Amino acid sequence: MSIKKILIIDDSAVQANYLRSILEDDYQVAVANTGKTGLEQAMSGDYSLVLLDVIMPDMDGFSLLREMQESIVTKYIPVIMITSLSDTYNEERGLVLGAVDYIAKPFHPMIVKARVNTHIKLYEYRLQIQRQAMVDELTGVANRRQYDTYSAVKWQEAIRLGKPISICMFDIDLFKLYNDTYGHPAGDRVIAAVAGAAAGRLQRATDFFARYGGEEFVALILGDEGQQAFDHVKRIRRQIEELRMPHRAAQSGWVTVSIGGVTVSPQSGDDYSTYLMIADAMLYDAKRFGRNMVVWSNGKSEQWREK
Ligand code: GH3
Ligand code: MG
Ligand code: MG
Repeated sequence: MSIKKILIIDDSAVQANYLRSILEDDYQVAVANTGKTGLEQAMSGDYSLVLLDVIMPDMDGFSLLREMQESIVTKYIPVIMITSLSDTYNEERGLVLGAVDYIAKPFHPMIVKARVNTHIKLYEYRLQIQRQAMVDELTGVANRRQYDTYSAVKWQEAIRLGKPISICMFDIDLFKLYNDTYGHPAGDRVIAAVAGAAAGRLQRATDFFARYGGEEFVALILGDEGQQAFDHVKRIRRQIEELRMPHRAAQSGWVTVSIGGVTVSPQSGDDYSTYLMIADAMLYDAKRFGRNMVVWSNGKSEQWREK
């Protein structure tokens, strides 16, 4: 596991250095000597924990904590408040504002270490759960939940930037028959292999690939014109066929996919679901026209169909 980063925000160099000496054997420690620079550093999102001095000349710890709570980047980073004000009023105030813990001066190094370790563990556990909630277990690609969030964000981005976006539905051909012939566990391996092949070709930062459900997948490609996206997806179809996974009951003899897609440059007010339905209609046509092919709409009235 990589070494975790801690940020100490403290105007007293002496106290900051003392804290650093306690923690630097186990963590990578950075120090900020003002509230302002501390907040900027915390915003980088690199840190697994912040140790925060309550009293600083430029910005008190409580205001800083409030600002950290307001940004999605820093909202979940655990903050431990450090102060000599060991009265219950300030302790309560810090905790109400979202600090996870409170250490009063003078502190014992072992206590600091123990509390830091605990909160970093909890934070890492939380991140892990969060990641798992976004990833499909069988295939390792994004799951439906991540797709729902991502598609909404990217749709707005395409509108804002005036860029084309392609929505693309994949469905494994005659998969019920596959399960019936080879069994469900073998079917699962096919789903994973298809996902791996497609995801491997959708690796750009502007690409996205998710398991939509069952043996269906969805890809979003941002920035490519229709022809480009269509050509790229045709290569993916071919690559899946070339995995040469035997499927006796299928006409080709191999596992194949049908794909329906649409490319659109959405305008403000356009509805994502309208275009998702078009992609779905293209997929339906691909099935109807004989499967193992890509059918594409250019968002106007043209339809392209090709293996
Ligand atoms: P078509 O070519 O028209 O898509 O035919 P199909 O048989 O693939 O279509 P249909 O949607 O009727 O069947 C999909 C099948 O996929 C049914 C279901 O048993 C199977 N399936 C869905 N999810 C999973 C899964 O997680 N694992 C396995 N092994 N099979 C699954
Ligand atoms: Mg299906
Ligand atoms: Mg199917």
